[in-house]
Amino acid sequence: MSLHSGFVCILGRPNVGKSTLLNALVGEKLAIISPKPQTTRNRILGIIEVPAKDDMPGAQVVLIDTPGVHKPDSSLGRKMMVEVREAMEGCDLVLLMTDVTQKHDRKDEFALQMAREAGTPAFLLLNKIDLLSQKDRLLPMIDQLRQLHDFREVIPLSARKAHGLDILLDAVVRNLPEGARYFPEGQLTDQPVRFMVAEIIREQVLLETRQELPYATTVVVEQFEEKKTLTKIAATLYCEREAQKKILIGKQGQMLKKIGSAARAQIERMVGTKVFLELFVKVMPGWRDSKTFIEETDWRRQLEQLTGAGGGSRINRPTG
Ligand code: GDP
Ligand code: MG
Repeated sequence: MSLHSGFVCILGRPNVGKSTLLNALVGEKLAIISPKPQTTRNRILGIIEVPAKDDMPGAQVVLIDTPGVHKPDSSLGRKMMVEVREAMEGCDLVLLMTDVTQKHDRKDEFALQMAREAGTPAFLLLNKIDLLSQKDRLLPMIDQLRQLHDFREVIPLSARKAHGLDILLDAVVRNLPEGARYFPEGQLTDQPVRFMVAEIIREQVLLETRQELPYATTVVVEQFEEKKTLTKIAATLYCEREAQKKILIGKQGQMLKKIGSAARAQIERMVGTKVFLELFVKVMPGWRDSKTFIEETDWRRQLEQLTGAGGGSRINRPTG
């Protein structure tokens, strides 16, 4: 039977649950999640194989999670919006996501405007329905949002509770063109392990710190050495001020230890070996406004300079 395939971009303002949806649909944690807005800084690919069933063809869905749509006020923010635009380019379908606990406002309108301008077929996803105590509020909400754009489908769901995902995936497959796979069967993402490691560490920073620090920190993996039973990793946490560095390190290194051991446990599960993880903290004043620094630490750019270096392999769907 024929195969459907295509690129599907998840779009929406910060914090509506885009990354949670990516992980839920792929069935693996590819994107980090936090209650803080602007957790996702790069577009993240998740590849889904949908088996054929009954009258439906099978499909390879290349899902792209994106940073939240916002008006940027730094080089980092502008780079994040470039990531959104690159994800939208040439995609076959847009999943515009909103949060049912929030009123449709300017921020949603901004994301909707991007979808309109792209002219790509779009679904509207109403996420977090698990938080809606009065389910009868859903229908008027759907009616109201349908007026805003000619959506192919409007689908209420809960990414966190995995409700409504089958309906969504069926509709996605139906709306993708016939075509060959874009990636080998079994591949989960385009992102090499070494860069997923940096994200896992950054997720711990997001969970453990508050105020400005989560936004002012970035993580760069400096060393990644794979041996049969041990993976040696060294990473640097960049922040913007001495005071932030002090917090990241903590009293007698307590904070850095906490971040390191939580990240290490996750990395060990991903790479399947013991992990030796060394973390350093450096101050890079105003890095969020340094176009050069942001470009140099972009993983796609780093990858070009890293041919043959460790951690370049990609994770596959577990077999068996
Ligand atoms: P993103 O910024 O759009 O990628 O949003 P995230 O996926 O990082 O999620 C933001 C927050 O919303 C996190 O605390 C998630 O756990 C939470 N969240 C995401 N989806 C749902 C959902 O369906 N129900 C509930 N209750 N929370 C959700
Ligand atoms: Mg996200």
